[in-house]
Amino acid sequence: MTTIPFLDLKAQHRALRDEILPLWGVILEQGAFIGGPHVGGLEAEFAEACGVAHAVAVGSGTDALRLIFIALGLAPGDEVITVPNTFIATTEAISQAGGRPVFVDVRPDTYNLDPGRIEAAITPRTCGIVPVHLYGQPADMDPILRIAARHGLWVVEDAAQAHLADYRGRKAGSIGTAAAFSFYPGKNMGACGEAGIVTTADFGLAERVRMLRDHGQSRKYYHEMEGYNARCDALQAAALRVKLKHLPAWTAARREHATLYRELLQDVPGIVTPAVADGVDPVWHLFVIQVEGRDEIMGALGAVGIQCGLHYPIPLHLQKAYATMELGPGSYPVAEEVSRRVLSLPMYPELTDESIECVCRELERAARTVGTAAR
Ligand SMILES: *Cc1c(COP(=O)(O)O)cnc(C)c1O
Repeated sequence: MTTIPFLDLKAQHRALRDEILPLWGVILEQGAFIGGPHVGGLEAEFAEACGVAHAVAVGSGTDALRLIFIALGLAPGDEVITVPNTFIATTEAISQAGGRPVFVDVRPDTYNLDPGRIEAAITPRTCGIVPVHLYGQPADMDPILRIAARHGLWVVEDAAQAHLADYRGRKAGSIGTAAAFSFYPGKNMGACGEAGIVTTADFGLAERVRMLRDHGQSRKYYHEMEGYNARCDALQAAALRVKLKHLPAWTAARREHATLYRELLQDVPGIVTPAVADGVDPVWHLFVIQVEGRDEIMGALGAVGIQCGLHYPIPLHLQKAYATMELGPGSYPVAEEVSRRVLSLPMYPELTDESIECVCRELERAARTVGTAAR
């Protein structure tokens, strides 16, 4: 039986072993695990890759979001608009910074925040908007920024899935007031553990995040405020600097895989391939199709050794964690409909064309069988 994993981190690390281990050897030798030249190096190089002035490395993507919201001065009861079809870290960070997430439904084609629905959700308590560049495709930032400017709101990009994604000539992370990236191992650029980074053009905001990640210190034992322990460690920063050099080639490989998937699946009845908005070049963190009978199809693929994922099976407003919001089924119909139909196919740079062809062949077979059984 073929086995095609959903994600293969082993292949990437076999290739990078000889680049990463010598750097780690030096860090172990020096015992310099916190701070140091690799953290500053990563920040400078990542900022440049995004075309933005400042980057501040932190402990995770969730920390990146949370520290941005705190640095922006979110106060209890402040409302922040975001989408229901994201990873819970987006809304956890809003709540833990003292704010209140307010959901707005997404577009049925790109699954990203629908700019046409934002203004209806704005109240006197609204402070900001958090578009999520879902699956590596930037949200439609221009209309979002126009609405934000009209109402005096900030815009924070959740770019956890969108390293190097392009929106009309601008890179994800350089478009809003600030952006949060995740280096969780499975992301397009992943640490060998946990890490994340904040990008922003605003020097003052970058400085506040810098203090917040390190107990509110401006220098050692001078605390301007209470902060957090949310630093990026030296081992992660060193590995991430190595990986950043490979990221453009990995991104190109993901784009080629997406092109082949789209070509092979475009005429298969019952399968909806991802739509790409005009002027946008996604980085395909995930390749997500829509199918009827998704769970049966996923099971049939699993039975022949093809692993798929679900991103995300339950929208946030229907999670137990948010039961107190009292937003029942039907509150965000697009996100709900999509959550029943989405299926994430194997996607990683080292994936081969033969594997993609095999996935598409088996998917077509499964869709036909499930479709027939339904009739
Ligand atoms: C992964 C992810 C996060 C959180 O990042 P961590 O590094 O795991 O804390 C936030 N938002 C989205 C959309 C993500 O996919």
